[in-house]
Amino acid sequence: MVSAGLDGLVVTHLPNIRYLTGFQGSAGAVVVTRSRCLLIVDFRYLTAARALLAARQDEAVELHHVDWGYDDALVGLLRAERVQRIGVEAAWMAVGRFNRLSAGVAAAAPGHAESRTGCPALVPTERLIERLRLIKDAAEVATLREGAARLSRVAVRLRDFARPGRSEVEVAASIDGALRGEGFERPAFETIVASGPNAALPHARPGTRRLLDGDGVVLDFGGVYDGYCVDLTRTVQVGPWTPDFRRMFDAVAEAQAAAVAAVRPGARASAIDQAARGVLERHGLGEAFGHATGHGLGLEVHEEPRIARPVTGALDPVVEAGMIFTIEPGVYIAGVGGVRIEDDVLVTAEGCEVLTRVL
Ligand code: ZN
Ligand code: ZN
Repeated sequence: MVSAGLDGLVVTHLPNIRYLTGFQGSAGAVVVTRSRCLLIVDFRYLTAARALLAARQDEAVELHHVDWGYDDALVGLLRAERVQRIGVEAAWMAVGRFNRLSAGVAAAAPGHAESRTGCPALVPTERLIERLRLIKDAAEVATLREGAARLSRVAVRLRDFARPGRSEVEVAASIDGALRGEGFERPAFETIVASGPNAALPHARPGTRRLLDGDGVVLDFGGVYDGYCVDLTRTVQVGPWTPDFRRMFDAVAEAQAAAVAAVRPGARASAIDQAARGVLERHGLGEAFGHATGHGLGLEVHEEPRIARPVTGALDPVVEAGMIFTIEPGVYIAGVGGVRIEDDVLVTAEGCEVLTRVL
């Protein structure tokens, strides 16, 4: 905030609110000034928020209660705090809300929000909290490690779930049931079961298709454990291996191993991506790999860092110890099928630790 010249910050993205305060609800806001951190909740969450802050013995966070809507409460607080340059999270605030709040803090009529000199003004910011979330602390690492161990136990049962004659939705239901059984709060996203030609669709939704002997089946699933997301993909062959499947599987397994071996502090995300991509290009499958190699994991299932080719205007982050992300190359050939293999890795001082271990 200091380096951005801000004396106030309004945090509205719920995972960022949880990161700062521990509060988990479907609505809420945080106002940070140079000396205070205010958690703003409405009637529905007041008791839970009080209990949370008492349990955390967190005296740095003050609780504030909304009477008539969050925007009125925010304007009232910001004016009472006499802050002038107020950061908002540009990626997460709608333009309409930005205009309403701007007009409110400037005490102008809505729709006339141009900043007059000397008036408090909202300032769009990027990634102020997300940057903090990039490096996991010891408690976060422990939670994600435990989540990955539990998710790996679900993966061990995939061969049992993906049997000939069962439909994709039935297999997905078995996976979701196993996630509950392993203590996950909920799936981290809609479980993907893509069989036979459907496996050529990287984000296929499970359907009524029944698994046949000879099908390759992509199974991609994740769970939320104590608020933190883990994510894993395996591709299994039902019945005997076909030459097409063998070729795709071996290439993807080699690409995934190459990318995992490239993970170390100081490596560029694009170099890790290229380690996987280069292997697939050598196998003549470069064109069949059309997505990023990985994504960060944490309070959200897709967060920073993005492990991908450098794109104009996007970041090509340098990997640091304490980051946790997926490595998930895949190949997809329309009309034939596809293979993806995904594991979660923690960057360590020397290289990386693979958190998902499917034995
Ligand atoms: Zn996944
Ligand atoms: Zn993933």
